[in-house]
Amino acid sequence: MRPFTYARAASLPDALTRAHAADTEFLAGGTELLNWARTGIASPAHLVDIGRLPRLDEIASSAEGLHIGALARLNSVAQDPRVVTSYPVLAQAILRSASAQLRNLATIGGNPAQRTRCPYFRSNHPVACNKRVPGSGCAALHGANERLAIFGWTQDCVAVQPSDPAVALACLDAEIVTEHADGGRRIAATEFHTLPADDPAAHNVLRAGELITGIVLGAPAPRSAYVKVRERQSYEFALVSAAAAVEVQDGLISRARLALGSVAMRPWRLYETERALVGLRPGSPDVVDAVTSGFVDSRPLSSNAYKIPLARNTALRALELALESS
Ligand code: SF4
Repeated sequence: MRPFTYARAASLPDALTRAHAADTEFLAGGTELLNWARTGIASPAHLVDIGRLPRLDEIASSAEGLHIGALARLNSVAQDPRVVTSYPVLAQAILRSASAQLRNLATIGGNPAQRTRCPYFRSNHPVACNKRVPGSGCAALHGANERLAIFGWTQDCVAVQPSDPAVALACLDAEIVTEHADGGRRIAATEFHTLPADDPAAHNVLRAGELITGIVLGAPAPRSAYVKVRERQSYEFALVSAAAAVEVQDGLISRARLALGSVAMRPWRLYETERALVGLRPGSPDVVDAVTSGFVDSRPLSSNAYKIPLARNTALRALELALESS
């Protein structure tokens, strides 16, 4: 492991100033960053520990909905009564991620910034991987790609983003709040992750030295649900997952939001399906057709055609559960 400096930030401005130095990473829960360092995915020269910055772990109601500080631990978010009641899709997604022990350490700000689990990207040995070494190629394109993308991939990268909470945040149209020495911004959760067509080497749109400080959830979505399909029932990444949030008026669907997880390098919103669902009666055969219409752009790789019907059925199940909730 490469030697690095360690500094505990005394304040948010202090953290941002320290991040001006090239090759700096922020350390919060550490559950992902230390993996990167161990496998050589990242070997920063400087670590800035933000784990004890005051008030960044608070969850507060606001005029917009709910503001969740970036340092709030995943289990704290999932157990917050406001999240459980008003945004159950997020609570469910969190509780299906990682393990209870990891969720006690991992933060809601750090989780969406985790990197792909593509086996070539995580390899301890040199392989062709444009995310590890830009321009080196993509070993997964014709290799072990059974868990990888069915949407939004290119010849340069076919990876998927593995975060469960990120799928719920995209479904909820949440915003990710950041700060930077040059100024902060809000990033739509649906636009936070970078698709290979934009940059096959990138994972997200964060700039060097840019720090996630919070998540903003909008209007409550009490009729929402998350479904995760995986090879074992705990401590496992998704083969596919789906987050759904619905509104019903006079017995008909008046609004629907659907996002798929582990099918692309970002949570994949099924916008076509969402439009087609409006005006349909829950449980009608047309609902199945509407969900199916969201898959016309899906493209399987050599070993993952199974993910298309699996994702479609997972989306249908999430939609059913959201409609059944109240
Ligand atoms: Fe690397 Fe992406 Fe190809 Fe995996 S899919 S080997 S992360 S370029």
